[in-house]
Amino acid sequence: MKEQKKIWLSSPHMSDNELKYVNDVFKKNWIAPVGPHITKFEEMLSNKHENYSVAALNSGTSAIHLALIILGVKSGDDVLCSSFTFAATANPIKYIGANPVFIDSEYETWNMCPLLLEKAIKERNETGKKPKAIILVHLYGMPAKIDEILNISKKFDIPVIEDAAEALGSTYKKKNIGTFGDFGVFSFNGNKIITTSGGGALISKNKKFISQAKYLSTQARDNQPHYEHSKIGYNYRLSNVCAAIGIGQMEVLNSRVEKKRCINKIYKEQLSCIDEIKFLEENENNFSNFWLTTIVINEKSKIKNDDIRLYLESLNIESRPLWKPMHLQPVFSSSKSYTNNTSDDLFQRGLCLPSGTNMSDEEINRVVLAIKKLYAK
Ligand SMILES: *Cc1c(COP(=O)(O)O)cnc(C)c1O
Repeated sequence: MKEQKKIWLSSPHMSDNELKYVNDVFKKNWIAPVGPHITKFEEMLSNKHENYSVAALNSGTSAIHLALIILGVKSGDDVLCSSFTFAATANPIKYIGANPVFIDSEYETWNMCPLLLEKAIKERNETGKKPKAIILVHLYGMPAKIDEILNISKKFDIPVIEDAAEALGSTYKKKNIGTFGDFGVFSFNGNKIITTSGGGALISKNKKFISQAKYLSTQARDNQPHYEHSKIGYNYRLSNVCAAIGIGQMEVLNSRVEKKRCINKIYKEQLSCIDEIKFLEENENNFSNFWLTTIVINEKSKIKNDDIRLYLESLNIESRPLWKPMHLQPVFSSSKSYTNNTSDDLFQRGLCLPSGTNMSDEEINRVVLAIKKLYAK
């Protein structure tokens, strides 16, 4: 039997315009980490996000790094961080020499548990060492319990960095994710809902924060004709070539969100007949971009998440385990954590299904039929 075409978890999906804008870049020779396309891309992101200030950067990771620096986090400080996430959320804490303190999840949104967060802050405060920041992740596009987290942030006066790398286009109480914290972070890596091949952005209501981010991201060059430096800088600016791709992608963001949600709806409709499979669902506050459709398998099920993954793989279909929580990662084994077993349990039983916006109905159906077949056996 001829091998069927590979179905990817979430592959890049260009529209008709990206190449046009990239050609424009070549014509005007703005092949640099400076240029009009960066400005335009930042404007588009700003328009989408309450006219907040935006710094386009070369990754989501560098955006988190700069946010921590601008908030004044120093070596030896504690930073509270969602445990259920990709390592890129937590690594920048270590770049600074600060200590991540990982906070486990709640089952409703899979994101940071407000109860554990408050417990952690109280305990850390009692030792006389107040945590310097909270990094709040909106995993798989699903908004966290934002009101609860922001209340705690206010009560204890600790700033919030929203890691919205997976949640561009998601909303909480109809307001865009990334606009609730002191900073919002986006990623445009290859498999995100829109991509610039690699890239990221830092947004904030605070204009000064963002001009600092632009300054730090371009080697912290002071305002002099010669190269004068009074701070350590970084080479974190987005390339103008990548920004051109970003402009084309921003034009189709809404339709990408629609398609992701449509894929999620089809999976739910088609697979809800299987009792062993449950989906991550929105509550009344949340509108998710459903970057990836995620399922959890009942603990009593004979067919486990990894059986599904391997079976799909045999059919040339890519699926992936959920993120392995940071508090279980070897590299963070000496970090503090506040846990309740939620993220570990979800990791043990969960799976990400192929959710690329360039999937055809036929391809979605291939995934559905494969899973149905496995459970019918
Ligand atoms: C992708 C991702 C990042 C990092 O973004 P990059 O642009 O790849 O550096 C950070 N946090 C989360 C949750 C992500 O999924």
